[in-house]
Amino acid sequence: MAEFTLDLNDDQKQVRDWLHGFARDVIRPAASEWDEREETPWPIIQEAAKIGIYSLDFYAQQFFDPTGLGIPMTMEELFWGDAGIALSIVGTGLAAVGVLANGTEEQIGTWVPQMYGDADDVKVAAFCSSEPDAGSDVAAMRTRAVYDEAKDEWVLDGTKTWATNGGIANVHVVVAVVDPELGSKGHASFIVPPGTAGLSQGQKFKKHGIRASHTAEVVLEDVRIPGHCLLGGKDKLDHRLARAREKAASGGERLKNAAMATFEASRPAVGAMAVGTARAAYEVALDYAKTRSQFGRPIIDNQGVAFQLADMRTRIDAARLLVWRASWMATTGKPFTSAEGSMSKLYASETAKEVTAQAIQILGGNGYTREYPVERMHRDAAIYTIFEGTSEIQRLVLARTLSGMPIR
Ligand SMILES: Cc1cc2nc3c(=O)[nH]c(=O)nc-3n(C[C@H](O)[C@H](O)[C@H](O)COP(=O)(O)OP(=O)(O)OC[C@H]3O[C@@H](n4cnc5c(N)ncnc54)[C@H](O)[C@@H]3O)c2cc1C
Repeated sequence: MAEFTLDLNDDQKQVRDWLHGFARDVIRPAASEWDEREETPWPIIQEAAKIGIYSLDFYAQQFFDPTGLGIPMTMEELFWGDAGIALSIVGTGLAAVGVLANGTEEQIGTWVPQMYGDADDVKVAAFCSSEPDAGSDVAAMRTRAVYDEAKDEWVLDGTKTWATNGGIANVHVVVAVVDPELGSKGHASFIVPPGTAGLSQGQKFKKHGIRASHTAEVVLEDVRIPGHCLLGGKDKLDHRLARAREKAASGGERLKNAAMATFEASRPAVGAMAVGTARAAYEVALDYAKTRSQFGRPIIDNQGVAFQLADMRTRIDAARLLVWRASWMATTGKPFTSAEGSMSKLYASETAKEVTAQAIQILGGNGYTREYPVERMHRDAAIYTIFEGTSEIQRLVLARTLSGMPIR
């Protein structure tokens, strides 16, 4: 088991510097344009694919880095470049992880490559769980999956919302209800292959931030998919449902919620995205404070400004440490006894919102305009306290874990 260390090894430093170069030279200069266009930055995804940053191999390598620091380091550097473009590059990973976590080896081998395509023909994928009436309350999901035994097909019906890459994805991973009696234990994940009839894009959302990332509704009307598109396979599902029914009938001990454990492990990655955005805004503010003069001296000469920068940097470093700890715990299989994954996401996302707001303040009127990047960074930062579980939900998980009480 890898010991926890704050020293990146030589390989990690090399990858970090390579990612930073791409974020500095390709992502950051394009950020404003794609924010205004509010479109998926296909040419930038293609650039990333050409040099290997947009590929399953690269993410698998970072994911399996035994120190646990590969993914947070990757997220921080790319999101330092720009959050909207970076999400367009890493958004496919959410769907890929859904397949890696629940799929058979054959399903992984078949579908994950189709999610990425290749450098000449890049593709993206979408993970569709949220619904109009089931956001934080995942158990309220209504999209149904019914098995048609005669044809060995699953039939999906429902409306998904807020899906990153929804409708433009080559492969959609859809979570649906197979047994409504069992709440979230009655859910299963399905692959909807490219070009399947009945899947269409609903409304595309015009957003406050991360505007280069495509977010849309996904409508499923009598979507028929082959039986082998159920992730994990029918036998595994039947076995899992039978166990859940037994537990429910006996009123016995609750099944360990695997989904919660997965969330704890994936939330630090969102925390790392937030650290990237916060660090970017802090650097712009520090630079500006040293060069902007008022009353005959740089504004950083005022403690009121310098102390803000000191606090910003302290919070960013604290956020990174929480993220790295949680990522190391996830990789080395340490149990999240104090909801350390949620803690890292909560702290880092709130930090990004505050630090980007402080950066606008330090830039004064310029900070409030689109001539300077901190205005965009502040809009982007607002997403981190919402997706992958809102800050309130992180606090709920923490409060329940720490107290052992059913806090509501
Ligand atoms: C840009 C973007 C991209 C997204 N990408 C995806 C994606 O790819 N796939 C996907 O499936 N989903 C995605 N989501 C959905 C996201 O995960 C949900 O928006 C999020 O889980 C919150 O759900 P909601 O928006 O329905 O808010 P609600 O659940 O309605 O919450 C509204 C408010 O009530 C609070 N609240 C709710 N319940 C409680 C409670 N018990 N205690 C205290 N406060 C509570 C919340 O914290 C929040 O402040 C995305 C969302 C956005 C905005």
